[in-house]
Amino acid sequence: MRDKHAIIVGAGPAGAGLALLLARNGGRVTLIERETEFERVFRGEGLMPLGLDMLRQMGLADEMRAVPGDPFEAWEIHLDCQLVMRIEEPSAELGDLAFRVAAPKTRSSKVKNSSSAGASRSCSAARA
Ligand SMILES: Cc1cc2nc3c(=O)[nH]c(=O)nc-3n(C[C@H](O)[C@H](O)[C@H](O)COP(=O)(O)OP(=O)(O)OC[C@H]3O[C@@H](n4cnc5c(N)ncnc54)[C@H](O)[C@@H]3O)c2cc1C
Repeated sequence: MRDKHAIIVGAGPAGAGLALLLARNGGRVTLIERETEFERVFRGEGLMPLGLDMLRQMGLADEMRAVPGDPFEAWEIHLDCQLVMRIEEPSAELGDLAFRVAAPKTRSSKVKNSSSAGASRSCSAARA
């Protein structure tokens, strides 16, 4: 691998992770991404146990702990604004690998701004 040059198209979790692992192993890597900013269409803010474990195995545990986030304690299912079911997440048991939702400052400020601009929130949305 050391005498090869890998060109990876797409800096999502798969491409960025592969680029990191190849570069760490001494490979020459070029990572190409069409987006010019990290902020993009909403996705990937729920950090799940298996994904967190994979990031930990890649040596990124400290970086993930530094991501601001809220623990995801339970799933609540509401019908007609009435709670019909609550499923607890085993947060205490999982510790650092517990499911959590990243909360970048930009997203929380957008939510605040949209609320003050008159956006409404539905009572049927899932809550944690
Ligand atoms: C709405 C939504 C919400 C989600 N929420 C979560 C969540 O909360 N938690 C979770 O774990 N998963 C979530 N997922 C799933 C998660 O986003 C995907 O599993 C993950 O992003 C897949 O990673 P990837 O690297 O394979 O692809 P992507 O993340 O799609 O990355 C591909 C990258 O390639 C780039 N690209 C594509 N074509 C080109 C090109 N021609 N030239 C240059 N760059 C290019 C794209 O811009 C993109 O950055 C969500 C998905 C969606 C759609």
